Amino acid sequence: MTDSIKFKRAAIIGVGLIGSSLARALRERKLVEEIIGVDRDADVIMRATKLGVIDSGETGLAEGVKGADLIILSTPVGAIGAVAKELGAAADDGALIIDVGSVKGVALDAAKAMPERVHFVPCHPVAGTEQSGPEAGFASLFQDRWCILTPAPREDGAYKAAVEKAAALWSGVGAKVEIMDAAHHDLALAVTSHLPHLIAFTLVGAADDVESVAAGEVVKYSAGGFRDFTRIAASDPIMWRDVFLNNKDAVLEVLGRFSEELAVMQRAIRWGDGKALEDAFTRVRGLRRAIVEAGQETAAPNFGRDDKGR
Ligand code: NAP
Repeated sequence: MTDSIKFKRAAIIGVGLIGSSLARALRERKLVEEIIGVDRDADVIMRATKLGVIDSGETGLAEGVKGADLIILSTPVGAIGAVAKELGAAADDGALIIDVGSVKGVALDAAKAMPERVHFVPCHPVAGTEQSGPEAGFASLFQDRWCILTPAPREDGAYKAAVEKAAALWSGVGAKVEIMDAAHHDLALAVTSHLPHLIAFTLVGAADDVESVAAGEVVKYSAGGFRDFTRIAASDPIMWRDVFLNNKDAVLEVLGRFSEELAVMQRAIRWGDGKALEDAFTRVRGLRRAIVEAGQETAAPNFGRDDKGR
């Protein structure tokens, strides 16, 4: 499959963790001849060029995408609509445009508004870390991870071919591809990603507020579970602000269900209902096993950290 796709020039808009990882992966697999970075921050362009992630860069969008047959939109979700609108005028005829945003409703709206001469296929690689910037990227980020495509409802052959090309691109960098309805994606990811991040941000913030526990103790005893939440809570504030602002309905829906479940736990603890607690905890252990069996996590204790917890 990967033999059939090869791009001449890729323009990566937003050369951060995901954009630079995709640049590295495309280069490593020889799927692209030239990579142009487009970032509003000249310092990011300079760092990414020094790292060899991009061949050259531009701070201006129209200049940067000229001649590109592949355009990768890897800015925070809040910028997708405006950048896509500019691309509608600036991209070359026939260019394949993909995004990597964590919310797909907003990307689908942008894809629907595109002129027919360019092909915007919304994509979400379900892979990442809590770090940001071009230094944080690595070529194997997408290996064996899922990438969800939520294409626009366009029936023309050129768009269908573009969807196939986008799928081949993701397979080419090691990902497993699934096609899904954007609204379904946003609800599923609200459960598996957005709510866990919201809980981590809130929990770490709440620990900071418990005045009778000194900050030193929070750090000292963090291996008791807190540490694992702090990894998630260290994620980029702008990226996550945009996720919650752009996936409001789905997040509020799952947050409502979570609050109800939390109240059930609260009641069981208050009334000393050990059976209810044991049943609930037993049920959720099975999900962890399923995630390990699906190859999405290591079975090693403590996420495979060594005896120093590293
Ligand atoms: P990141 O490391 O912060 O990189 C984003 C880059 O985009 C930054 O260099 C930023 O520059 C630049 N940027 C912002 N607005 C721009 C604009 N209008 N034009 C050009 N460049 C612009 O973020 P990331 O983690 O790679 O996330 C990028 C996208 O991937 C987001 O949509 C996110 O939802 C999605 N995603 C992230 C993860 C993850 O785990 N991090 C996983 C899957 C998908 P400034 O620093 O100057 O703002």
